[in-house]
Amino acid sequence: MTTRTEIHVIGGGLAGSEAAFQLAERGHRVVLHEMRGAPGNQGTPAHRTESLAELVCSNTFKSTDATNAHGLLKAEMRALGSVILECADAARIPAGTALAVDRDIFSAAVQARILAHPNITVVRDEITALPEVGIIATGPLTSDGLAASIASRLGAKSLAFYDAIAPVISSESIDTSIAFRAARWGKETMAEAGPEGAYLNCPMTKEEYDAFIAAMVEADLYHSHEFEDIPYFEGCMPVEEMARRGAETLRHGPMRPVGLRDPRSGKRPWAVLQLRQEDRAGRMWNLVGCQTRMRYPEQTKVFRLVPGLGNAEFLRFGSIHRNSYLNAPQALSPHLSLKDSETTLFAGQITGVEGYTESTATGIMAGINLDRLLRGERPVLPPPTTMLGALYRHLREADPAHFQPMNANFGLLEELADPPRDKALKRERYAERALQELASWRQEYGVVSLSPSGASV
Ligand SMILES: Cc1cc2nc3c(=O)[nH]c(=O)nc-3n(C[C@H](O)[C@H](O)[C@H](O)COP(=O)(O)OP(=O)(O)OC[C@H]3O[C@@H](n4cnc5c(N)ncnc54)[C@H](O)[C@@H]3O)c2cc1C
Repeated sequence: MTTRTEIHVIGGGLAGSEAAFQLAERGHRVVLHEMRGAPGNQGTPAHRTESLAELVCSNTFKSTDATNAHGLLKAEMRALGSVILECADAARIPAGTALAVDRDIFSAAVQARILAHPNITVVRDEITALPEVGIIATGPLTSDGLAASIASRLGAKSLAFYDAIAPVISSESIDTSIAFRAARWGKETMAEAGPEGAYLNCPMTKEEYDAFIAAMVEADLYHSHEFEDIPYFEGCMPVEEMARRGAETLRHGPMRPVGLRDPRSGKRPWAVLQLRQEDRAGRMWNLVGCQTRMRYPEQTKVFRLVPGLGNAEFLRFGSIHRNSYLNAPQALSPHLSLKDSETTLFAGQITGVEGYTESTATGIMAGINLDRLLRGERPVLPPPTTMLGALYRHLREADPAHFQPMNANFGLLEELADPPRDKALKRERYAERALQELASWRQEYGVVSLSPSGASV
């Protein structure tokens, strides 16, 4: 039995369109609000059209190979029945194993599916208040009026307006015969970190540091959109910008060696790049102070110059751009609702996930859980052995003091009981386990999937 409560989904982007469809297919009446196309509305600084589910930048949803983190997430989303992926398939253009699309055909297909649905009404208006029963999926460029309402409901500190992301690398790719565990002066956050120390430290000689700085100064950068001119201040200054200010800047800033001794020599290094543990299991490590606009291949080249990081595997690259997002672990419930109103959910990039596929995936889950709540059932989330469940675990368990948006990656997944040494084999096992456990979870909680024709299975 479904209720006939009118549900308001705010934002007709990837997450909002997916969530609206999921709810409508489950029998709910949905009003999907999109401000683009409303009389007098300026839209966002990045969108160019009035179409639903416009892709603002690249035209790819990345890999379809389930042994790739993005491919695995898509395989899980297909098992749950994603209308966005179905429309992406219909608009697919050749790009090897990547799911690249003709962006106009894609958004026209999404719009057609949404407009044709008898349970969905699309209204072109800007919403500035939070709905009692609904999903807020207004994305990285949420309008100012709604952002103000969110900030006043959740506290201004819960909503960030840009991200300044440092790369995250996998623990197994760090050479721990060079990088050593210690907190500065042996005290900083030791209580939290336990006896082993909160940080891994990559010590540099003068020559190594000079070569690292020189490579950074020469590196090619992503050029930002004109609306992304972020006023840099401490905490979001790109690492390459600090390097450009003079060779000593980083050595006296985030890479200062004070309070640290290299156990191999017993001496203080010339400079130190610190790695901070990003997850509870210690499988993901954040390069402290290294938020950057360097192009991805340049990040690989430059950071691999650091002793101990010669084989670094990047789980998330650094970036700096406009992005309205919530501090989910602090501000939201596990199913990403307001803590004091469980039927007011958030989905998409505003929840602190990063990327087209990840944003769409949270739209599926928001639809599933709001349906459950309206039928008097508890919200459910897949286990952290699945990519979807692992992303949700990150959103609820990450350290709120250092919370930054996250993309799908294998470092988020629960470790295998007996991980094979071979990387390709390990990824195959992750994928097999994830899809099996998603199927069991669906069965346990009666989570139906919407088949391509739209019928529930
Ligand atoms: C400049 C830029 C480039 C990006 N490039 C990429 C990329 O190449 N690859 C990638 O994977 N990700 C990229 N991203 C991230 C990308 O935006 C998200 O991954 C994805 O679009 C998020 O989906 P979403 O549904 O959360 O938000 P969106 O797709 O942005 O949808 C949000 C919708 O809400 C509407 N809206 C906002 N406020 C209101 C309101 N108050 N009332 C009604 N409607 C409202 C907006 O008009 C928009 O249509 C980029 C982001 C930006 C800003």
